[in-house]
Amino acid sequence: MIKKQPVLLAPYIKTRFPYDKLKICRSCNHFTVLGEEKCPICGKSALQQVEKRAASKLRRSLWGSRTIVLLLLAFGLIMSQSTMQTIWLALGGTSLLALLWTMQRRSTPALLQIELDKLFRKEAYSLITGLAHDREMAISVFHGGNKTLAYEMLREIGALVHTDQLRIEQILLLQSFVLRKDMDLMLDPLLMDQFDPDLVEYIGELAKIRRDLLKENTFRYVLLHESHILKMEHGESILVNVTSAAVRLKRYMVLYPYLIVRYARKLPKDRFLRLYRMVQSNAQTSNGPLYEEVMAIYNEKYKFDEDFQLGKRNRD
Ligand SMILES: [Zn+2]
Repeated sequence: MIKKQPVLLAPYIKTRFPYDKLKICRSCNHFTVLGEEKCPICGKSALQQVEKRAASKLRRSLWGSRTIVLLLLAFGLIMSQSTMQTIWLALGGTSLLALLWTMQRRSTPALLQIELDKLFRKEAYSLITGLAHDREMAISVFHGGNKTLAYEMLREIGALVHTDQLRIEQILLLQSFVLRKDMDLMLDPLLMDQFDPDLVEYIGELAKIRRDLLKENTFRYVLLHESHILKMEHGESILVNVTSAAVRLKRYMVLYPYLIVRYARKLPKDRFLRLYRMVQSNAQTSNGPLYEEVMAIYNEKYKFDEDFQLGKRNRD
């Protein structure tokens, strides 16, 4: 077994949109999520956020349509044959310009999104090669011995690249670290469709230190691959830990009763006590297989346990 390293991970800065950290080089059109200013390809300090690039393109096209209206207005004014005509033209033209301005201002967010989509479509190849280059940089950092930085780089790329290969690389790195609950860890973006023992081990660790990270997608993944997990060396204890996390919320108890039924017997006392109290206080689980199993375990193991009696008395 590989010895795990204690590490200090930089916190992950979340953004409104996944592409918020994506930059494009003004000089060579190279895309990257890793650089701040300097382009890793041409070396110039010419990186700018993709949103800025799209916004400046949009500004140019908005000014284009305003200029057309202004030119038409000027042409009309030159050609006008009476003072009355000039006054009407000036009034109509100014109102049209004001209306165009207001409409453009109101639709700017939607237009910006369209401009961004256009940019991604037009530069699709450059975007893919840019992100692939980012990954190669992360791999070379890993080979250089800086696993923490390599993971942090892959984590940034993972916000935009959703491939199992990238997920596996992140999981393998995470599994080489000593994980602590104060670390900025994530689980949902690393879930895959296929069974992966390293992912399962990672889920098992998180189930011990960060139960809050186990949500619907994780429980569905575990249930889907339960038979494979049971064949793993510590598969059953991973499933018990996952069940410990599932008894965190009533919602999970209602959604995944059969997972809990299968592993409730092996839960540590504090988690079983929590389950017992939730089953008793929840009308949706006051009968059925989960209720029966919990009551059977209670009668066998905890009937005369003081902690369970205390709970009962408090509720009464
Ligand atoms: Zn460049």
